[in-house]
Amino acid sequence: MRERTAREIGRGIREKRWSAPEAAEEFLREIAGRDSQYGCFITVDPELVLSQAAAVQRKIEKGEYTGPLAGVPIAVKDNICADGLRTTCASRMLQDFVPPYDAEAVKRMKEAGMVVLGKTNLDEFAMGSTTETSAFGSTKNPWNPEHVPGGSSGGSAAAVAAGLVPAALGSDTGGSVRQPAAFCGVTGLKPTYGTVSRYGLVAYASSLDVIGVIGRDIWDCALIWDAMAALDRKDSTSLTRSDKQMFPLSDQGLAGKKIGIPKEWLEGEADHEMAAAVESAAGIMEKLGAKIQEIRLPLTAKYAVPAYYLIACAEASSNLARFDGVKYGYRTGEYQDFHELYRKTRSEGFGSEAKRRMLLGAFVLSAGHYEDYYRKACEARKRIRGEFAGVFQDFDLILGPAAPSGAPRLGESLGRPLQMYRRDIHTVAANLAGLPAVSLPAGLAQNGLPLGIQLMAAPLAEKTLFDAAASYQKEVPALVCPCRKEA
Ligand code: GLN
Repeated sequence: MRERTAREIGRGIREKRWSAPEAAEEFLREIAGRDSQYGCFITVDPELVLSQAAAVQRKIEKGEYTGPLAGVPIAVKDNICADGLRTTCASRMLQDFVPPYDAEAVKRMKEAGMVVLGKTNLDEFAMGSTTETSAFGSTKNPWNPEHVPGGSSGGSAAAVAAGLVPAALGSDTGGSVRQPAAFCGVTGLKPTYGTVSRYGLVAYASSLDVIGVIGRDIWDCALIWDAMAALDRKDSTSLTRSDKQMFPLSDQGLAGKKIGIPKEWLEGEADHEMAAAVESAAGIMEKLGAKIQEIRLPLTAKYAVPAYYLIACAEASSNLARFDGVKYGYRTGEYQDFHELYRKTRSEGFGSEAKRRMLLGAFVLSAGHYEDYYRKACEARKRIRGEFAGVFQDFDLILGPAAPSGAPRLGESLGRPLQMYRRDIHTVAANLAGLPAVSLPAGLAQNGLPLGIQLMAAPLAEKTLFDAAASYQKEVPALVCPCRKEA
């Protein structure tokens, strides 16, 4: 079963070749047998999974669930709430937090008949690019366990790559779905900001956060997004989709499409293997009927990373202020007064990357510095949006790398945070501008690790994006991690 896509598993259930509980049991066995090598999951509750799967099976038999995803297991990043399952955000602060409700995205997954298999590892509060800042230990890249899986949704990406689950939810604030998917050789979808409700997603940076999907290929990602994406009054930034008919995805999606490749994203930023992968993808897309042209994104290239980190840290400092040891979450053992309770709880509960970001965020929001930093970052963000809007007047899609290279080694990144932040150059702009984007596997580097390219489209142009990605993936099929064959 580990070789199958989500829709193949769903089809097998509809055709009665296996049942939802059988599918769930098989993936639970995969996790029990192999996850100790990778550390993808923080929480798996087999009893809950099996009872959910049995309930789903009954509804399938009664004809209540008839969709393509009914009975299919899915993993959920551990910053997205699922009723009755611990949601830790990979932080000591929430190590025992069990939410009494489902995030809207999870609720919709369940309504489509999907079975939540478990909660996946991430960088603490989704702050990071390597899944090394987790209080539960780092996740390893299944292609080579000496390398990181990327982050922050590294547990979700590695689990899909290793065949521990057919698909997983992640969150993407600045690349956390696309970059780990690229590092693990799977497909990552960051939808238009607002298309998937943030209700029940533990906030990192609210104006940038969006729930996305990691799957084997674009067809699975599109199906799952389609089941999740809907207007939700519980999220004031939730949007109504404008697509009329999403399915079937076209395999002529690149014919006649104008695609821009930002010169700045290849020069200087991407290593030569990554640049070659983008060029080879461009060649394939051209053969499939696209018109490729070099474009410039000078403001984005210069200001996206600093603007992103200023805004993300500012919002994080405010969002994470709620973890005070009083309402819920971790509380320090001994304290004399309220101030000591607060100080000790937060000192002990948060890891160093989260602290660094909250301090930076509090600084840029402070009275003396607000104008110099935060306001300027917001202005830069406005101009970046304008730069993209200009490009999308003439182009349908933008093609670039999903990251400057393949996955770094474990332990290589955390000591040099600024360098690590800089490596988010290819992904953060889509969040600043709210654009939909996908990362797609594009072959292997010399060291045997996957490389990923990225396609972006105008806000709400998911249909254009999915059709283009589907055409590309018909030509360049999904990668198979060797660990799936060996195991
Ligand atoms: N690497 C980026 C950061 O650390 C993005 C994280 C994310 O998308 N959650 O902020």
